[in-house]
Amino acid sequence: MTTALQQKPIDILQTVFGYKSFRGQQAEIIEHVINGRDALILMPTGGGKSLCYQIPALCMDGLVVVVSPLIALMQDQVDALKQLGIKASVLNSTLTNGEASYIEELMLSGEIDIVYVSPERLNTERFIALLGQCKLALFAIDEAHCVSQWGHDFRPEYTEFAKLKDIFPDVPRIALTATADELTRQDIIKHLRLENGRVFSSSFDRPNIRYRVMPKDNEKKQLLNFIEAEHKGDSGIVYCISRNKVMVIAEWLKNQGYNALPYHAGLDNRLRKHNQDYFIKNDGVIMVATIAFGMGIDKPDVRFVAHMDLPKSVEAYYQETDRAGRDGLPSNAWMVYGAEDIVKLRGFIYKSEADDAHKMIEHQKLDSLLGYAETMKCRRQVLLEYFGEKIAQCNNCDTCLESVTGFDGTVAVQKVLSCIYRTGQRFGATHIIDVLTGKENEKIKGFNHNELSTFGVGQEYNKSQWKSVFRQIIASGLVNVDLEAYGALKLTPNSNKILRGQEKIFLRKETIKEKPAKTKKVESSKRSVFTNPAAEELFQKLRALRLSLAKEQNVPPYVIFHDSSLIDMIVAMPKNLSEMGKISGVGQSKLERYGKAFLEVIKEQC
Ligand code: ADP
Repeated sequence: MTTALQQKPIDILQTVFGYKSFRGQQAEIIEHVINGRDALILMPTGGGKSLCYQIPALCMDGLVVVVSPLIALMQDQVDALKQLGIKASVLNSTLTNGEASYIEELMLSGEIDIVYVSPERLNTERFIALLGQCKLALFAIDEAHCVSQWGHDFRPEYTEFAKLKDIFPDVPRIALTATADELTRQDIIKHLRLENGRVFSSSFDRPNIRYRVMPKDNEKKQLLNFIEAEHKGDSGIVYCISRNKVMVIAEWLKNQGYNALPYHAGLDNRLRKHNQDYFIKNDGVIMVATIAFGMGIDKPDVRFVAHMDLPKSVEAYYQETDRAGRDGLPSNAWMVYGAEDIVKLRGFIYKSEADDAHKMIEHQKLDSLLGYAETMKCRRQVLLEYFGEKIAQCNNCDTCLESVTGFDGTVAVQKVLSCIYRTGQRFGATHIIDVLTGKENEKIKGFNHNELSTFGVGQEYNKSQWKSVFRQIIASGLVNVDLEAYGALKLTPNSNKILRGQEKIFLRKETIKEKPAKTKKVESSKRSVFTNPAAEELFQKLRALRLSLAKEQNVPPYVIFHDSSLIDMIVAMPKNLSEMGKISGVGQSKLERYGKAFLEVIKEQC
């Protein structure tokens, strides 16, 4: 199908969206789409997928139908489009019958350019009949990985979209997702019948995210140090493994003066919704949550994602850290983890009702994540390699920035293994460390462990340094944790090779320093672009204005302007509307609506 071009894509990008140029493959994708062709678009979070159907909606003749399973996200996108003066609507179960009929009329009369619908609605005969009477330009199937039965987000309704090809053979269809793996890609092409479409695939790297992992050592203090040093006043997400821990950490952060809220599946529905809404519509809120939180959160200015515990797999970790920095500004993915996390996660798998084959896969997935956590290589390389992508060293992760090296830990590990053996393979790490460091406590005396040859042979390291050695050998599978025997450590065939001196083992050096590694302050927050305190003050004033405008309209602040636009204003200090119009993210509609108010705040500061 060829449609009459109303306006050029680049003009729309500049005048409506206020952006200077297309990113990555956007221009090519948009051209392909407006030429009436199908496509599968694989792009990382924050890559700019939505523009690939929003711009065609403005330059093609007819309606763009966007299907998405995420109701909150649809509303956010429509709010953002309305701010740009684009005629867009949501059609889902949150509307009354009257409101829905009104939007249907607008669709029929061609008075809206984009409609967002839920998968259920798109599958009803009634809605298909309605679409039959509309002039259609494009179907955009967002979160297209939901069609794959192998993923966690499988939505059976998605498999029915195959019929769109028969019913509307002349209307192009595009599928979009941030899920990279090959199996999902094949499933999308097959089930959505995109065989004749083109695949646009970009790197899944998120270069603005800085990855850091460190040993757990007083986790609350570590978190506080991190937030105080790098993220005061920022929005962030803190992931915890349990509901109880969510409540404890949220309360604790609140007591430290932070605007922190809890979120987990056990909270009352209304409270959960309130907390999510508050997080989205306010600046500087920290959400402390279990993995129940995050799906469909489109907030672009989440400056950090902190993990207080180890997730289950690299996929889960990547998906969770992916929620940081959608706006492309520097952001942090920060994690603390310890041997106890490994024991806990192995325990969950062990106790689960899954069959053995499934459990084995879960263990392997955890192994891959442990490999990431303990790596001495560039973390980004390890992450992307997991998804089949090769990149150069990133210089934006802790291992690149702090150049971690290994050291020959064979003797230390031999001491540990020998101590585990001599104490009968019946004890956990804490007791073994007490024996190694020569602690004469009741338990040790009770078992006569002070008479063993390994008693006190590990004085060269303190407790936290030994913990680091234990964490590394548990992570590498050199010893097993016996989950039926209260976490007792057991030797494995691999440990024998080390004990007999047939193999050497290298450990991460930085985790075994005289003092536990301190969180090195890394200037990665947005403030690194400011050179003086006045700039920070102006940023806070612009943010306050943005928040009050957002509150008046009950929309999230970022639909008015992104942080990146505010930062651009501070750097450029526009003096009039014409200069303001050159700021990235300030299109015509926003310039008319907000230009003057923001200019006034800037003028005052001058
Ligand atoms: P995705 O859906 O791929 O996660 P979005 O479409 O939400 O990403 O885009 C992320 C952010 O980047 C949005 O705020 C969007 O407006 C912005 N953006 C997209 N394309 C461009 C561009 N060419 N120039 C500047 N900003 C862009």
